[in-house]
Amino acid sequence: MPLYEYYCADCHTKFEALRPMSQADAPIQCRHCESMNTSRAISLFAAFSKSESGASQAITGAGGGCSTCAGGTCSTCGIN
Ligand SMILES: [Zn+2]
Repeated sequence: MPLYEYYCADCHTKFEALRPMSQADAPIQCRHCESMNTSRAISLFAAFSKSESGASQAITGAGGGCSTCAGGTCSTCGIN
């Protein structure tokens, strides 16, 4: 199941949730304040959003693009 990021407009907190792809944009309750005033945080790569939050890992240097890039070739994102 893919990991998605969501942003709560009430407590201004980002949180992550594992959801089926079909429910990626479905309403989700904030984990911190239980508000439903949340929206999906659109980020192309998990590595990018992690560096945004200050917990940067060297994922970007490892050739990480989308999840199918792991094998070295990727036809979906074109990073590699
Ligand atoms: Zn919240």
